[in-house]
Amino acid sequence: MNLADIKTVEAILRPAGFDFKKSLGQNFLINDAVCPEMASAACDSDTGVLEIGPGIGVLTVELSKVAKRVVAIELDDRLRKILPQTLAECENVEVIFGDAMQLDLNAIIKEKFSECKRVCVCANLPYYITSPIIMMLLESKLPIDNITVMVQKEAAERLCAEVGSRESGAITVAVNYYAEPEILFEVDRNSFMPAPKVDSAVIKLNVRKSPAVKVNDEKRFFSLVKAAFAQRRKTFVNTVSNTTGLSKDKIKEVLEYLNISPTVRSEQLTMQELTEISNNLF
Ligand code: SAM
Repeated sequence: MNLADIKTVEAILRPAGFDFKKSLGQNFLINDAVCPEMASAACDSDTGVLEIGPGIGVLTVELSKVAKRVVAIELDDRLRKILPQTLAECENVEVIFGDAMQLDLNAIIKEKFSECKRVCVCANLPYYITSPIIMMLLESKLPIDNITVMVQKEAAERLCAEVGSRESGAITVAVNYYAEPEILFEVDRNSFMPAPKVDSAVIKLNVRKSPAVKVNDEKRFFSLVKAAFAQRRKTFVNTVSNTTGLSKDKIKEVLEYLNISPTVRSEQLTMQELTEISNNLF
């Protein structure tokens, strides 16, 4: 059964009366070149893979061929009847029904992947929660090697931008803090059913063993970063002062001490500069 074939997908979904829910980000892949490439980029035969949102299992089947074990988490209860049929031949796959944002992923990894040398996350993510899922995966400090996921192309560009470039934002800093990001390949919107309005890209976040920089206070560092990118048209000093209530003089004093221009914009600051500003402010 080729789950990336549009006729097969229709033949599976129609009798079950399944209609795609936009609210769950349901755009199923119908391009059979994409999933094998994602699977081989994410894992090998020693890897345990956590998949988020298997849909009818098009990526799950390919992951099952490459990985040691696959655990797929699906929120949509209507797939309870479909997935056991489409994954019937995949003996190393288990499906857990629930919300990936609510489940204890650390406990799942410990319980299900004890025999795997490494663990990764691989998914065609529901677009409505791309950033929250990625941040949850990184901030939970899960013992994972990489996160290989399909996201909207614009999100991929933002997530994988260089800190200090025009495309960077608060999420770019957060991703670079925890991981080394790369864009693997782009995927045309017509590779999905139903076709979304935008193209996609597969990205790989190679999780670092330790954060990219040494910040004194992680919580304050991330709230400074969030504040710094809250008003993109303003200078760093103005936006940080407006959003945090810190005095402009205090921020300027730190910038001067670090030899950074007082009119600098947040997207011009490198990871190291943001770190030093945070460490000196707090
Ligand atoms: N993997 C399939 C594919 O590539 O065709 C489906 C991908 S579709 C973009 C996203 C999937 O995530 C859907 O199956 C949807 O029901 C599921 N989903 C949405 N929100 C979820 C959540 N919070 N936790 C787990 N699964 C979720």
